[in-house]
Amino acid sequence: MLAEFRNEPYADFSHPENKAAQEEAIRFVENQFGRKYELFIDGKKIKSDRLFKSYNPSDKEAIIGAFYKASKHEVDMAIDAAMLAWETWRQVPAQERAIVLLKAAQIMRRRKFEINAWMIVETGKSWIEAEADTSEAIDFCDFYAREMIRWSEIKGVTAFANELPELRYVPLGVGAIIPPWNFPMAILTGMTVAAIVTGNCVLLKPASDAPAVGHLLVEIMQQAGLPAGVLNFIPGSGSEIGDYIVQHPKIRFISFTGSKEVGLRIIELAGKHSAGQLWIKRVIAEMGGKDTIIVDTDADLNDAAANVIASAFGYQGQKCSACSRVIVLDKIHKKFTQMLVDLAEKITIGDPRDAKNVMGPVINQASEEKILRYIELGKAEGDLLTGGGKAPGDGYFIKPTIFKNIQPGARLDQEEIFGPVLAVLKTSSFDNALNIANSTEYGLTGAVYTRDRFKIEKAKRDFFVGNLYINRKCTGAMVGAHPFGGFNMSGTDSKAGGQDYLGLFMQAKSISEKLI
Ligand code: NAP
Ligand code: MG
Repeated sequence: MLAEFRNEPYADFSHPENKAAQEEAIRFVENQFGRKYELFIDGKKIKSDRLFKSYNPSDKEAIIGAFYKASKHEVDMAIDAAMLAWETWRQVPAQERAIVLLKAAQIMRRRKFEINAWMIVETGKSWIEAEADTSEAIDFCDFYAREMIRWSEIKGVTAFANELPELRYVPLGVGAIIPPWNFPMAILTGMTVAAIVTGNCVLLKPASDAPAVGHLLVEIMQQAGLPAGVLNFIPGSGSEIGDYIVQHPKIRFISFTGSKEVGLRIIELAGKHSAGQLWIKRVIAEMGGKDTIIVDTDADLNDAAANVIASAFGYQGQKCSACSRVIVLDKIHKKFTQMLVDLAEKITIGDPRDAKNVMGPVINQASEEKILRYIELGKAEGDLLTGGGKAPGDGYFIKPTIFKNIQPGARLDQEEIFGPVLAVLKTSSFDNALNIANSTEYGLTGAVYTRDRFKIEKAKRDFFVGNLYINRKCTGAMVGAHPFGGFNMSGTDSKAGGQDYLGLFMQAKSISEKLI
């Protein structure tokens, strides 16, 4: 009997031994900079004829590592290996597959500071953001292991005279796992292990900005005893090999998390039949957000301000769940806006290897340029309150930026920026606030700060998002407690970390044996 699932506790960095261990792990990781990493196909390290580099966004000169790059040839090799492995992996009992995940969770616990360190240097996460990311990866392994056992025990049918009916959940086949760079351990792990524990074999194409973190999972799964060919690691450019993978006739499903543009493209291409394809491809696509917090007149303003700031600027606003709009009622607008500015101006920004920095860099140059363009647009669409440009340093540092007087319908009110930019909107009633909140094409997360029971119930009914929080920040979904996934253009509402999730990677086979 397994103990009940519990979320992994975060290491407390105010304890000197944890601080020292994290510092040592950063040095350990820095000593490995510049290594070359092979692809991993059928349990073997494979070199290709091209390499690409991963950089540290805090220090543009530092090369994290060089990665052999998959082309169509390696994609074909990986699909062949996965198809072969699937013949046996699908027959391994659910309990045994679950044990591999439980072992992986233990290995991650042991290597936690090292995993954090890779995220700190490769993706610019602060210590606490990295710690939350690794802990969530552990949670996904622990949670989906238990979930697989539960799914394998579901009966799902009623007795029928003279027959022995049963319902079996069987895996789909070979799938592609295409994660983003922003939760390089947590989301990549969750997507991968859910597909594997349900009996599928996969190709994992990590985001090109975070291949070193992705490589860690491959190493860990190998240590945990995963058989060859079940997990094949094929780093490479999404724009070069993405379409080929998605359209491949042997790919049965695609699990994607990333931007709306790429997600919609995958859905479209996967819907077209390729020669030799036997099935309708299943696509799980979790995409962008334009997430809103509403602050009502009777809210605890100190708590609301602190959590709007945490939701807007945690990991530099590069979370799909990040608060990028706060809608404030007239009466408290002036006071609340000033509270936000005061808190934003206290945020320390710089290389996150230094624990004192709360905010690090944005991920890369293209992202920096895009965010700075939105900041210039914000100066035209509203009034700049604080921030408004680059912060000092050798990396892609951008100051936490807040605009007021952004009007409903403005681009800063509608578009995902994916950076440390917060738009404040003012409105006269709670109903208007809800209308504005619901007026984008997205529907991922949202939060409401109010003490009014009637308004709380109204928000629960009418705020149209996949993840709604009351009197709490709109980021930081916990595995098990807050199944995660959005409505509308935010995705297919897969509810990662919830009890429905594993069902997406299986199909139900109904069998009935007549007793003769
Ligand atoms: P992205 O640019 O869409 O990339 C996501 C993944 O797709 C990467 O691995 C990328 O590879 C790959 N890709 C690119 N073009 C492809 C193609 N034509 N076919 C197949 N794959 C392709 O997104 P991102 O910049 O990594 O992540 C940020 C976005 O993710 C934001 O919009 C954010 O809101 C969203 N997100 C959503 C959730 C959620 O749960 N809803 C969670 C996290 C992030 P390359 O890296 O090689 O380009
Ligand atoms: Mg990088």
